[in-house]
Amino acid sequence: MVVSAPPVRSQYESVLQLFERVADDLALEDEVRLLLRMPHRELHVEVPLRRDDGSVCVFPGYRVQHNGARGPYKGGVRYHPEAHLDEVRTLAALMTWKCALVDLPFGGAKGGVQCDPTELSANELNHLTRRYIQNISHLLGINRDIPAPDMGTNAQTMAWMMDAYGQINGHTPGIVTGKPVELGGSVGRESATGRGVFFVLREFCRDTKREPEKMPVVIQGNGNVGSWTARFVHEAGFPVVAISDLSGGIYNGRGLDVDALVQHREAGGKLIDFTGADSVSNEELITLPCEVLIPAAAGNVITEENWSGIQAEIIVEAANHPLSNEADAALSEQGVQIAPDILANAGGVTVSYFEWTQNIQQFRWDEERVDTELDRTMTKAYRTVRALTEERGVTMRHAAYLVAVDRVATAIRLRGFV
Ligand code: NAD
Repeated sequence: MVVSAPPVRSQYESVLQLFERVADDLALEDEVRLLLRMPHRELHVEVPLRRDDGSVCVFPGYRVQHNGARGPYKGGVRYHPEAHLDEVRTLAALMTWKCALVDLPFGGAKGGVQCDPTELSANELNHLTRRYIQNISHLLGINRDIPAPDMGTNAQTMAWMMDAYGQINGHTPGIVTGKPVELGGSVGRESATGRGVFFVLREFCRDTKREPEKMPVVIQGNGNVGSWTARFVHEAGFPVVAISDLSGGIYNGRGLDVDALVQHREAGGKLIDFTGADSVSNEELITLPCEVLIPAAAGNVITEENWSGIQAEIIVEAANHPLSNEADAALSEQGVQIAPDILANAGGVTVSYFEWTQNIQQFRWDEERVDTELDRTMTKAYRTVRALTEERGVTMRHAAYLVAVDRVATAIRLRGFV
């Protein structure tokens, strides 16, 4: 089972750099700066698993709570060979800024188990998940820390987590979000991140008077976020010309038949076997001619090594931290508009918040209400960022961090932390 070492240059340092720039701009006092530089708490656990063949593996697992000034810690759990502490810490910090930006009453956290879930059976994943939750359960609580799905985890994983937590603490549906609807999950949660990505792109096109039909879109990633994003942008009239997953990509300059692709995938077909399109590698995919590039897969996929091939005028960061800071600066310098991750992919945690409130109230919203409230939340956050971008003449990322860091710092001061 392949697991990878942390990168030589820490990803956390990159996110910290974004924070430091904004902290300077806000003239943040040293005490608050110090508090926000490092996560509040980091837990490393060993997660043993007896494999179906009787052998035993031990996987490193993490839960990082970055900052809880605005509310309980909130963040997904990732099962991935690169889910090492540095990555989990980075993602926890992004959650603090994301929740603050879309004005949810949550702090930021993230979890991870460094494993390759594609090599584990459903039975093994069930046992691994239960053991991970047992090992971190003392940090969790409906008003303390609420996990959710991320890469390599899904609604089924959340059902196992809820059950494992419930065996120790009694039935507690609100302890995780992104659950199956039958177990108290919210309608609209599965598609929420993709829908939110679409809302941000829609608002940007309205603002800049661009017509969807003239905006070819390329999407990297065909998991939860990438596949739902493809459906929503296609429905709205944007031609989706290319999509990829880890095994490679497909391209049709006239636009892919996304409905047929969804059917092909639901029938168990591989993305790269879809007919009516040419094959492209993931390296080629990001350099294809298009107006909009949506990285919706892994982090750090656009770096100083490959940014110069990008032809898109707009990048919507559906994945977390898909651009290195160097690539971000170079592309911004060239006039590429970048909707940052903490704005663009906030739809998932927003509907997670709706799910948590529904669980607490033991009340159910219908899909129309979920989608309307999500639209309202995302559009409001987009407009706040856009207004500041124009007022200050800064990038959308800088503006988003200005709003988020200011809100968290205000909560810290009001609580009297410093
Ligand atoms: P997922 O596991 O469902 O899908 C990931 C997809 O990316 C798969 O199609 C996989 O084959 C592909 N992929 C992985 N590495 C790749 C690479 N190097 N090149 C090309 N394709 C690659 O994960 P997801 O839930 O869709 O998450 C995708 C991204 O969105 C992650 O960065 C995640 O942190 C972020 N995100 C997810 C949510 C959510 O609600 N699921 C919310 C916010 C942000």
